[in-house]
Amino acid sequence: MTTFSKESENIRAYLYFLKYFGIEKSPFPDSLFYGQPQKRMTPKKTEKKEKQERIESPSLVGGDVSQRLESELDNCGNLNDLQAFMQGCKRCRLHEGRTNLVFGNGNPHADIMLIGEGPGRDEDLQGAVFIGRSGQLLTKMLAAIHIDREDVYIGNIVKCRPPNNRDPKSDEIAICSQFLQKQISLIQPKILLALGRIAGQALLGGKPSLRQMRGTVHQYVGIDLVVTFHPAALLRNPAWKKEAWQDLQKFEQMCRDKGISLGGA
Ligand code: SF4
Repeated sequence: MTTFSKESENIRAYLYFLKYFGIEKSPFPDSLFYGQPQKRMTPKKTEKKEKQERIESPSLVGGDVSQRLESELDNCGNLNDLQAFMQGCKRCRLHEGRTNLVFGNGNPHADIMLIGEGPGRDEDLQGAVFIGRSGQLLTKMLAAIHIDREDVYIGNIVKCRPPNNRDPKSDEIAICSQFLQKQISLIQPKILLALGRIAGQALLGGKPSLRQMRGTVHQYVGIDLVVTFHPAALLRNPAWKKEAWQDLQKFEQMCRDKGISLGGA
């Protein structure tokens, strides 16, 4: 397996940062951005420490802002700490229109973590992820592959609702993704499911289409990542449900292969 030095990890993190801000031309191949191999640590570190460090890198925000936030996030030892730390966050313009910051919900020790794009109107009003019609469909999608929604953790790329449900902008994603990375490092899931193009792009970098991202097992900070449709997109385009069902069946098999306990056969 290919390994990367700490310096290489830093370069790759910086390239992620450039891509978020629209700088697409690079002398490096795209393989540098997709399917990244896991970082090999020295054998002296414990497996848990190794996993924690792997998850907390790379940073999506450059410079002093990133470093200061990272050191502040180091003091958050659990999800409650992180949620308390984030209350009143004004690090990007999305705070201006929010009713509630939508932190995430679910099992804090989940093996499976779902990541959506950002809160919609209902989520903003109630401060919870995936409620309303999209949430109901998501619950049914999970049940169809023998996953109880209460057993997973669900978060979003950005925690505050973009105005008029527009796509989150790259700088908003870059800032808020630091909180998501910390969430992931605290939960330590075995597998990630990104819901929709925006979530997939935010995690993988660049601007691949949903079709390019689907059907492949990616890596995000050393964790297997699968990308499928956002439930809201399936509500708008029911014809896509057949392809979504294929994604979900593969995802279920991946979960079983990892020894994750599911319902059903
Ligand atoms: S979207 Fe994230 S970074 Fe922006 S204000 Fe909300 S919590 Fe803070």
